[in-house]
Amino acid sequence: MRDDGRVELAHRVPMAELVDRLAIPSLIRTGDELVGPCPGCGGKDRFGVSLRKGVFLCRRCDAKGDQIALVKLVLGLDFPAALEWLVGPRQNLTPQQRAEQRRRADQHRRQREAEAERRRQDAIALARQIWSRAEPATRTPVVDYLARRGIILRDSAQMPGCFRFEPSARLVVPDDNRRGEFVTVHEGPAMLAAISDASGALTGVHRTWIDLGQPKGKVVIPHPFKAGETVAAKKVYGSKKGGAIRIHTPRDAEAMVMAEGIETTLSAMVARDGQLEGAAFWAGVDLGNMAGARRLGPGLKYAGLPDLTDRDAFVPPQWVKRLVFVQDGDSEPKLTRAKLLSGLRRAMALRPGLTAAIVHPGEGIDMNDLLMGATDVTQREGDE
Ligand SMILES: [Zn+2]
Repeated sequence: MRDDGRVELAHRVPMAELVDRLAIPSLIRTGDELVGPCPGCGGKDRFGVSLRKGVFLCRRCDAKGDQIALVKLVLGLDFPAALEWLVGPRQNLTPQQRAEQRRRADQHRRQREAEAERRRQDAIALARQIWSRAEPATRTPVVDYLARRGIILRDSAQMPGCFRFEPSARLVVPDDNRRGEFVTVHEGPAMLAAISDASGALTGVHRTWIDLGQPKGKVVIPHPFKAGETVAAKKVYGSKKGGAIRIHTPRDAEAMVMAEGIETTLSAMVARDGQLEGAAFWAGVDLGNMAGARRLGPGLKYAGLPDLTDRDAFVPPQWVKRLVFVQDGDSEPKLTRAKLLSGLRRAMALRPGLTAAIVHPGEGIDMNDLLMGATDVTQREGDE
């Protein structure tokens, strides 16, 4: 189809407005994103719309794309029909009119980016405020919470500096009856973990609400608006973009072990049993942050190839010569593995000489054995 400028017009439609127009239900705003069930495959929070970038992505079915792709997904239209639904029928514009359209589209995009950056800075400021008001974690319920998760640090008298304790933190959920308002569902002790960006600056905090009366040590609160569901006991404030929770970084470290979650990363650390003594242990906070954007297309869903134009994903520091990702969770192991491969290959591409491996703890498999027996990942396609 000859480009008549309508694709650019379609890209000017703000995602928030489009989501309203398509009446996609149950999306909740967090920072620059709308998160909720996928209009294609359902679920709870696998679907995200980036308001800043004007794109969407489903972590399960891998549906993704721009405004036009979203209309295709929700209404089941083909490309020409989706474009027409969005911006009307084909137009015959003069080159001047088309140039003017492009200029306005650029201006609009810059404004949106500036607004998103302002919101990001506000969120970072809030995260720093939360962090500065919290207490050192040593000899607090944070130690007991981790012990409940089977994590006994060798020197629990000295908790890693990335952790802090809050005696009382408010857990809120969006109010279903009053748009933009929140309802407090719990107030109590919490573990904080610092999320640092590549330069080491604190850009976010990860909060876990503690309830030592629960088997897993986290609060279990029935969701006030979703029957049969509980409220997530963990929350990230600020920006996790390219960041990590730097749990343990020995001097002269050359290896790094990273899992998505704090508990898994710590489990790997306490299970290493004398091996990997000099390794750093960092949590990647979020699988998407560890993976970054992937190259997608026919046959590439599980290929695990990074899209190197993504500048936002986590990249290990220069000193990392060996990077080991621990595969966490098991909701969709094949896709999770593809994402981890993408992140490792990104690191290999950007840090020449770095070697990489994935370990996947399973039933009855010892974490330490795994760390020792990890098979290297290669840059080639289809190395599995
Ligand atoms: Zn989906």
